[in-house]
Amino acid sequence: MSEGDNARSRKASFCTRAIHVGNDLDPQTGAVVPPVHFASTFRQPGAGQWGEFDYSRSGNPTRGRLETTLANLDSAVGDDESSGGGALAFSTGMAAIHAVTMLLRSGDHVIAGSDLYGGAYRLLHKICDRSGITPTLVDATNPAAIEAAIKPETKLIWVESIGNPQMTVPDLAAIAAIGRRHQVITAVDNTFGTPALCRPLEFGFDIVMHSATKYLGGHSDVLGGTLATGRDDLYRELAYVQNATGAVMDPMSCFLVARGLKTLDLRVRRQSETAMRLALWLSQHPRVARVLYPGLEDHPQHDLARSQFDGAFGGMLTFELDASLETTAKVCESTQLFHLAVSLGAVESLIEQPATMSHASYDAADRVKFGVTDGLIRLSVGLESFDDLRDDLNAAIG
Ligand code: PLP
Repeated sequence: MSEGDNARSRKASFCTRAIHVGNDLDPQTGAVVPPVHFASTFRQPGAGQWGEFDYSRSGNPTRGRLETTLANLDSAVGDDESSGGGALAFSTGMAAIHAVTMLLRSGDHVIAGSDLYGGAYRLLHKICDRSGITPTLVDATNPAAIEAAIKPETKLIWVESIGNPQMTVPDLAAIAAIGRRHQVITAVDNTFGTPALCRPLEFGFDIVMHSATKYLGGHSDVLGGTLATGRDDLYRELAYVQNATGAVMDPMSCFLVARGLKTLDLRVRRQSETAMRLALWLSQHPRVARVLYPGLEDHPQHDLARSQFDGAFGGMLTFELDASLETTAKVCESTQLFHLAVSLGAVESLIEQPATMSHASYDAADRVKFGVTDGLIRLSVGLESFDDLRDDLNAAIG
């Protein structure tokens, strides 16, 4: 067995596989970082004859390496990579979600968790509806409610492994079982969870998606999205959709995401540790009404989160001030280290107001219905020290 095979085996730890799988030495030079292939097209062996690569939208060596790493880390393939499933890298997270919705036909129905990223809400309610696909939002922490919402036309259940912005945690095994029972595809946005902490395919989900723009890239310098599935039929259909519609990740972005993956485990564990300390500190703050973080013992799905997450609860946390939209906005504008910005998952900490930023595309009535209140503040905890981040927040909250 070669060194590469050892690293590929699921017996090797996650951080070892994140560094070695898909990153075999360059056979020509021995370079430990594989070269990046920028070519858009490849010489063919003959007219009408196809080599391994022909055109970079259909397949690119750099993208292929990244997809090999992702398929392994997301548990889409077994030790011998023989499941028939795999991973696909897209230009953005939204392009990856869109590709999943392209599995559907006019008249189909989607059930989505109501604690949902604003962009996914917009895609489902304002783009998919143009093709005759209808969404129903359901509390994803209530599997019985999901099952009750299934109709004959339901073809997809979409949830987030940690909901956004309320940090709800759905029961992945229960929802996957519902999907199997009713022959409905189950897909999960695992952007907040990351494959370092949570691997939904191991709980029976059909498809896992990440915005690679966030933790996978990890440095706020790349856009990307990924899908992984252990199902051969879905992998082939999604690959077909990707090639036919063209939203592939470009080679430079693939390189940056592959580089980010090598430090993913390290970053996410430190960010989770700091997020946990900030959540505990915020819980004691007199101006803070509520802290939503799955690592807190009073989080409604804390025990479930403990069983679904690998020893840490992620770097995202939300808290609520008993304050108006304007006062809450002022707090978000007053931090110095936390940048006021959408996005998340990078080395620098970010602060945002869901009602006016990440969830602005919600209809006003749905914002109220699904608890995106005026006083909510969402933090993406970076790699600065706990003390500095606490002092920054303390000064801003006042
Ligand atoms: N899913 C979640 C949870 C997100 O936060 C985002 C972006 O903020 C996306 C999906 C979409 O990803 P992208 O911005 O890469 O298209």
